Amino acid sequence: MAEAMVKLEGVHKRFGQLEVLKGVDLHVQKGEVVCILGPSGSGKSTLLRCVNLLEPPESGEIFVEGQDICKGPGSGTGEQSWNLDFVRQRVGMVFQQFNLFPHKTVLENVTLAPRQVLGKSRAEAEEKAKALLDRVGLSDKFDQYPERLSGGQQQRVAIARALAMEPHVMLFDEVTSALDPELVKEVLDTMRELASEGMTMLVVTHEMGFAKEVGDQVVFMDGGVIVEQGKPADVLDNPQQERTKKFLGLVLGTS
Ligand code: ADP
Ligand code: MG
Repeated sequence: MAEAMVKLEGVHKRFGQLEVLKGVDLHVQKGEVVCILGPSGSGKSTLLRCVNLLEPPESGEIFVEGQDICKGPGSGTGEQSWNLDFVRQRVGMVFQQFNLFPHKTVLENVTLAPRQVLGKSRAEAEEKAKALLDRVGLSDKFDQYPERLSGGQQQRVAIARALAMEPHVMLFDEVTSALDPELVKEVLDTMRELASEGMTMLVVTHEMGFAKEVGDQVVFMDGGVIVEQGKPADVLDNPQQERTKKFLGLVLGTS
């Protein structure tokens, strides 16, 4: 089998007394879309935050493109050993709250990291940013400030901003949960397009339609562990575990 794009093995994470991830194993192949479902507090965000080292795990291993991201080459132990540069250049993340810089224009939001982190020239960063904003349907918004945009437009800027770093993997943490219902579709359409272009994606979502249509795998988490995983049609239509059945019943309003 080909080397996994992202591989978690026995990942544990605790906050003080609270063990939030209790040994998570997950393999994500290149180009795969993995949708992660589960009740609030089950550790979904923490899992994504471990993959981009916002929260380094206590134990276990996380590989991105075969590289153990918790152990930087030649570096010591502890914080210095996290392979942050490697991760920053490969793993992009989009959050529920768009986290755009309010005093920067759309174009400045998208060009900032490529200029500061990748050292791109203004011209090069702007050319790339304009192409990305065009791709997410915002070519008329370059000079606007975020507050002038709808939530759906702001979230699409946030996606363009993450893509500007040319990531190999994208993490989405409930990116449509803060949006008015009529704005959800435009963001899901952007994600659907990204998936069809072959982006590897880990998507925490409550959008069952998206999970079913776009997901290659669905992972159901509860209490810091993966309870069940498999093809969307299997997990969503024919769950095997009681906890999965109960959660889906609540989410889909059938129980
Ligand atoms: P989910 O995204 O599935 O709702 P989270 O990963 O956000 O779950 O949180 C899992 C648990 O970890 C929750 O009980 C949450 O309160 C706790 N938690 C998350 N982040 C922190 C933190 N930085 N410090 C302390 N506890 C945290
Ligand atoms: Mg969360």
